[in-house]
Amino acid sequence: MKIGILKETQKGEKRVSMSPNIAKQLIAKGFEIIVEEEAGTNSSYKNIDYVDVGVNVEKRGVVFKEAHILLKINPFDEEDLKLVDKGQVLISQLYHKSNPSLIQAIASKGATAFSLDAMPRISRAQDMDVLSSQNNLAGYKAVIRGAYEMTKIFPLMMTAAGTITPSKVLIYGVGVAGLQAIATAKRLGAVVEATDIRSETKEQAQSLGAKFISVDNEGEESEGGYAKEASEDYAKRQKEAVNKSLFQADLVITTANIPGRKAPVLITEEQVLQMKNGAVIIDLAAAQGGNCEVSKLDETILLNGVKVIGSTIAPESVSTNASELFAKNIYNFILHLTEDTNFKWDLEEEITDETLIVKDGDIRKK
Ligand code: NAD
Repeated sequence: MKIGILKETQKGEKRVSMSPNIAKQLIAKGFEIIVEEEAGTNSSYKNIDYVDVGVNVEKRGVVFKEAHILLKINPFDEEDLKLVDKGQVLISQLYHKSNPSLIQAIASKGATAFSLDAMPRISRAQDMDVLSSQNNLAGYKAVIRGAYEMTKIFPLMMTAAGTITPSKVLIYGVGVAGLQAIATAKRLGAVVEATDIRSETKEQAQSLGAKFISVDNEGEESEGGYAKEASEDYAKRQKEAVNKSLFQADLVITTANIPGRKAPVLITEEQVLQMKNGAVIIDLAAAQGGNCEVSKLDETILLNGVKVIGSTIAPESVSTNASELFAKNIYNFILHLTEDTNFKWDLEEEITDETLIVKDGDIRKK
């Protein structure tokens, strides 16, 4: 079975879906791999690195023509689909619920498509979960970006010229990104506080050295370990509990999301106006509408001395690691879908069922 790795074409994307190191592991399992020329260049993988592990470097058209499985990170687009043939298997993130025309176009080609963002969030699927692997890096990079944007340093510093007090960091949302943000900010020496609607995150935040700001969440539901939309009452209680820390924070990182919904607004413009001069907000939920009322995706807004950065670029900005982890997720997924390099799809099995969006031209999930 031949796997084709395509160069990402989306603007700003630097990652590649398969690193040479993981390609080598797939080859050891008996797969053949071809890669589009320069596909890994922006992740610091050269053509020769792929060649060295037994991957053939080919022109784009050849990859489309020869591969049984086509791999990408971002959804296949119109230009890609012109080159897709009946019977080919596409694996990428497809965001199928918000992309019905793309799914229709794939189906009309008679192709098969798996969507990585549709991975069920169960323990068995953890090592195939690209949202987790990429969000983890996003949490790390958000802190680094924050440190760069701030006019203060993170740690306590005692010098002959005086003592510098540590920066205060506040994290909203203690999921995958939030936990890594806590860990990174702590390592850099900041005083870290965090809050989440799910009370089970308290212990996790504390184990990384953060102070947890508890908000009474009685009556708020969660589903399968994930948050549901909070009530107005909860939002009010949350503001009351968090405002003191928010108004003293030097860096605020927001990561709160509700699967399949717009992100909750946790910081209003009125709250931003009461924050410290020079404070920075990094809104990692900006692409889902934002946790801060003021933020705009891929923009930096300056409001009354507070910098509000709406950003989702984090995984791309650490493309070497992001590509390696993405590739490892794909490696596990391909092994899950195959036996001795042949497909064995059990449509009763949850991971296969949930991720298989189009099968031989038939749309299975809408
Ligand atoms: P997410 O990106 O959907 O949300 C981030 C955080 O925001 C969550 O912790 C959520 O509770 C919080 N949040 C939502 N609304 C909020 C509000 N109004 N106020 C404050 N916080 C709010 O979540 P995620 O990071 O993808 O994952 C959440 C949990 O699921 C994590 O604990 C993670 O360990 C687990 N998980 C499991 C798997 C798996 O088993 N395969 C995969 C991924 C994540």
